[in-house]
Amino acid sequence: MKLLVTYSRREGKKPIIAQIVRDTGVLVNVERALIDSSEGEALIDIPDDSCRIVRDKLADLGATVRLLEEEISLDESECVDCGACISICLQEVFTFDTESKLRMDAEKCVLCGRCIEICPHKALSRKSET
Ligand code: SF4
Ligand code: SF4
Repeated sequence: MKLLVTYSRREGKKPIIAQIVRDTGVLVNVERALIDSSEGEALIDIPDDSCRIVRDKLADLGATVRLLEEEISLDESECVDCGACISICLQEVFTFDTESKLRMDAEKCVLCGRCIEICPHKALSRKSET
């Protein structure tokens, strides 16, 4: 499951994700991170059964945590297989199959939203997983 973690860096550089791994023993996969002098934001992927312990520990460390319950949805009736989303997606979510039809592996997605913006046919959107 994916969690979006936001934390302040005003009180110094805290290795917050490393602390989570050390203190909980949960292996955390960092899928995206944006860090500047005042704030850090990381999209992390953790096993579903570790969600509670990781969220509690992050809260103890002063971080804000949001569970991401969305995924990118492809409307195949609108897609014209132009490949623009393949070019823009750094996670290699999109590929062409042997018949040059678009395929996607949503597991790799980090919900950056770039593909939605670039699709000329509005074939991509966010949808809730639940
Ligand atoms: S950018 Fe849009 S229309 Fe083009 S291949 Fe991707 S989903 Fe299909
Ligand atoms: S939101 Fe789109 S561009 Fe971003 S990682 Fe997911 S599939 Fe790729």
